[in-house]
Amino acid sequence: MNSSPEGDRAAESVDLFVIGAGSGGVRAARIAAQSGAKVVIAEEYRVGGTCVIRGCIPKKLMAYAAHFADDFSDAEGFGWSLEAPPRFDWLRLREAVAGEVDRLNGLYRENLARAGVKIVEGRARLVGPQEVEIVGTGRRWRAETILIASGGTPNRPHHIPGGEHAITSNEVFHLPRFPRRLLVVGGGYIAVEFASIFHGLGAEVTLAYRGGPVLRGFDIDLREALQESLIERGIEVRCHEQVVSLDRREDGLHATLASGETRVVDEALFAIGRRPNTEGLGLETAGVECAANGAVIVDDYSRTNVPSIWAVGDVTDRVSLTPVAIREGHAFALTRFYDTPTRPDHREVPSAVFTLPPIGTVGYGEEEAFDRFGEVDVYRARYRPLKHTISGRNERDLIKVLVDAETDRVVGMHMLGEGAPEIIQGFATAMKNGLTKAGLDRTVAIHPTSAEEFVLLRTPVTPWRERKPETS
Ligand code: FAD
Ligand code: NDP
Repeated sequence: MNSSPEGDRAAESVDLFVIGAGSGGVRAARIAAQSGAKVVIAEEYRVGGTCVIRGCIPKKLMAYAAHFADDFSDAEGFGWSLEAPPRFDWLRLREAVAGEVDRLNGLYRENLARAGVKIVEGRARLVGPQEVEIVGTGRRWRAETILIASGGTPNRPHHIPGGEHAITSNEVFHLPRFPRRLLVVGGGYIAVEFASIFHGLGAEVTLAYRGGPVLRGFDIDLREALQESLIERGIEVRCHEQVVSLDRREDGLHATLASGETRVVDEALFAIGRRPNTEGLGLETAGVECAANGAVIVDDYSRTNVPSIWAVGDVTDRVSLTPVAIREGHAFALTRFYDTPTRPDHREVPSAVFTLPPIGTVGYGEEEAFDRFGEVDVYRARYRPLKHTISGRNERDLIKVLVDAETDRVVGMHMLGEGAPEIIQGFATAMKNGLTKAGLDRTVAIHPTSAEEFVLLRTPVTPWRERKPETS
């Protein structure tokens, strides 16, 4: 049956049809096309995907903007006087960020074109194991191989009255006015990053998280230290708390909490997780198996149960990070178009949380490390960075190294503090290449830095699980 209003047109044949021009899809399409394959990529919103258009890049630019507030206040301790209090202009930041996003969007389009990939604008849907259409246009393609790289989408609080008033990370970059009072819901990456960013930019921020401490899944010391730091900076962190309703009134958005309290805010940003973008994609028609949360099920090579259909990136719900989606897309192209079977490696993936101060982390957290290795030496240091000895800021860095006691292999490295993402990237390379504690000890420090603390750890400390209070 033909669902198109324009009638059936002859389907063009291609070697590869990619659904979604985000991190994974773009990489896969470019590498495949460079092998001589005929490649088409469909995008329903903007080429570049979540990371470039409404994720990593605009978020990191806003985190830089927020950081200036720290710099202004720290400068005083170093002899600077700021004659008038600095003022922040949201619209100028918003437009500057949008300009950079536009530039990158153009660059992505150019790179695809240069590689010989044809971009098709519109929403793609599978109509069979080797056939795709652009919804509402009647345009169809027959593809030897189809790659699903449609990413994820934020969950919205449809379950609460007034949920339609909430915003998500999709809208936060385009707000017409700066939210002077912001409620952030959730305790994951997005919640803590935006709570930090808007607080740094001058907003009054409340973060409501159903669990506690924030960032479930991360090393427990990191979680506690970050939460302490957010509170110390003035963010109201409400753990074991839920928002039960939102009501838009003249004086703002009234958020009622499960505890019965109310917060009146300008915006309520819900960062309650993302789900794979598979609704309406025609996966059932093509016979592609999905998990209960909608994620496309794939094997180690990103193949689905249908031989012509593969999937990479957030839509597969493996590790939802840009560099991982890129690696998966690249590995797919090598496997399928270069006769070089390549499995993307999901072990020891480093990541960062761009809070103020930020987190850098790689490998196991303490609880997981004990579960996996049994005997673990825990090295940990909390210290006031040199800069803050005279900046006046009451903030301490945390670094932590976990070592498998049997093999001496470093199995986890974690840091909270300025520069942590940059520092951990370097150590992640060492860890991927078999770093041992003895290897760390042999390394000469760079002094004075924060990173040197990692090579100066001498004595294991009591693990968190032995020093945690009975009640936690
Ligand atoms: P996406 O980049 O989401 O691309 C999927 C594309 O498919 C989208 O452009 C979408 O419009 C399109 N699409 C969907 N359905 C269809 C269809 N039917 N037809 C046509 N097109 C379709 N990761 C990091 O590593 N570091 C960070 O700092 C970071 N920050 C983030 C901040 C935020 C606010 C968010 C939301 C995410 C962040 N991430 C970060 C995660 C990162 O953005 C994702 O892991 C990454 O973009 C996944 O790439 P992808 O190719 O799987 O999907
Ligand atoms: P996360 O899965 O990281 O966090 C979701 C949060 O929402 C959790 O704290 C969760 O609580 C809470 N939650 C889930 N459902 C509800 C609900 N119904 N009511 C209240 N709270 C709820 O998702 P994010 O949206 O923060 O980010 C999605 C992914 O994007 C990340 O996991 C990461 O892979 C990627 N990302 C990466 C970034 C980076 O690299 N710096 C930055 C931003 C995103 P609980 O803990 O109890 O489950």
